[in-house]
Amino acid sequence: MRRALFAGLLLSGLGGCALLAGPVPFPDPHLPAVHAVAETEPVNTDGDAADDPAVWVDRRDPARSLIVASQKRYGVLLYDLKGKLLQSLPAGRINNVDLRDGFVLDGREVALVAGSNRSDASLDLWVLDPDARALRDVADGVLALGLHDPYGLCLYRSPRSGDTQVFVNDKDGRVQQWRLVARANGRVGIEKLREFRLDTQPEGCAADDTGATLFLGEEGRGVWVLGAEPGDDANTRTLIDHTGTGGQLVADVEGMSLLRAADGAGYLVVSSQGEHAYAVYDRSAPHRYRGKFAITDDLAAGIDGAQETDGLDLVSADLGGVYTRGLLVVQDGYNTLPAANQNFKLVPWSAVEKRLSLLPPP
Ligand code: CA
Ligand code: CA
Ligand code: CA
Ligand code: CA
Repeated sequence: MRRALFAGLLLSGLGGCALLAGPVPFPDPHLPAVHAVAETEPVNTDGDAADDPAVWVDRRDPARSLIVASQKRYGVLLYDLKGKLLQSLPAGRINNVDLRDGFVLDGREVALVAGSNRSDASLDLWVLDPDARALRDVADGVLALGLHDPYGLCLYRSPRSGDTQVFVNDKDGRVQQWRLVARANGRVGIEKLREFRLDTQPEGCAADDTGATLFLGEEGRGVWVLGAEPGDDANTRTLIDHTGTGGQLVADVEGMSLLRAADGAGYLVVSSQGEHAYAVYDRSAPHRYRGKFAITDDLAAGIDGAQETDGLDLVSADLGGVYTRGLLVVQDGYNTLPAANQNFKLVPWSAVEKRLSLLPPP
């Protein structure tokens, strides 16, 4: 059963707003709860539009780090850590985004951002310019994937080959892996490495560049872990958690990301969308379940919690201020306080560490 409160009962001044279709759902009140400390400006269309964030860490000045986010009815958006919108790029129906630093293009290292584009079933690629604080298209033409409906996407830096690769999946269950190739014309092309299939609809994924593993969500079923190298057998995979009896997840299994601490330590965080919660697992095998939390309304600060989260991203870097232990960014399906189009919420990772007792021993 989906818990719900009528927005009008919960929030004064919300009445009459047409942005929220029906009641605002809320998580099990017994779950450990954390608050967001900032939120982005609302996206530029109503309905289910915000989807997947990716955090870029500015190593020169961490407070100037950026959030790239897909707006799946419009394109891509770029925000600063205060949630201020810096750029809107009308690129089409970009579903998921991800990024990696250190991609060599035109003889220098750049931050490369990839997006799955449902408008023309292609892969979009941009360079994130840290000085202009803007995205610039670098795809070498329309990078057609040959998929019917590109959906989930995540990047991978192979520890064996050093290649930057992308995993992109289709609602029909297909999962593709492509190498990203810097071309002489200063643009980036793709070369297909492998394709495999899940039984039902995948979406969220996250690749571990140290462990050479891919975490892959099957929305109605659970989270798989498998070898991320193109030569690995995708049929050799392990379900680390699942929906239904005995599992910790409530469908849909949605966005996921890794907190990459030193020496392969850290966590995998997964949106358990059907219960408006987030499940945490060890990054390293056997990927032990560490607990679940919700992001709830902070009425005093005027920042609402997050419900029905699609995409999320997580970084371990010290971004200063309240983010010294890292940052979690999640999509919020019901942006209230006040009611507005969907947006993204920023949560200090230290709050999750504290509520789930994940802190390292002193
Ligand atoms: Ca959604
Ligand atoms: Ca989905
Ligand atoms: Ca909310
Ligand atoms: Ca809000």
